[in-house]
Amino acid sequence: MNDTIFTKIINKEIPADILFEDDRVIAFKDISPQAPVHFLVIPKKAIATTNDIAAEDEALIGYMHRVAANVAKDLGVAERGFRTVMNCNQDGGQTVYHIHLHVLAGKALGWPPYQDRLKG
Ligand code: 5GP
Repeated sequence: MNDTIFTKIINKEIPADILFEDDRVIAFKDISPQAPVHFLVIPKKAIATTNDIAAEDEALIGYMHRVAANVAKDLGVAERGFRTVMNCNQDGGQTVYHIHLHVLAGKALGWPPYQDRLKG
């Protein structure tokens, strides 16, 4: 898999506002927030898309969700709630091909989150 901008964040080659980091994951603020609180949880292992998650990654994916909840708690938004999203490929709106869990919070989020185009 080719390196992405997130590999550069993991390797500290470009700066990010890091909220949590350990040997398996890193959580940092999204550069273009779509809610008052918007951060990303990414694995240090480079996995391109949800389609590429292997059986051996199952614990890692679960751990990403636990980190999302822990960071949300640290930021004081866990009790009111938050939304996790992992976009996959073109129709899912994925732009960075290194899986990442979006965590959105800080206001009552609308549902559905967007208007689908029913044609095309
Ligand atoms: P996707 O569209 O792939 O689901 O989400 C990619 C996310 O990464 C976007 O929300 C975008 O704002 C964020 N992003 C892209 N480049 C950077 C960057 O260099 N730094 C940070 N912190 N976020 C980034």
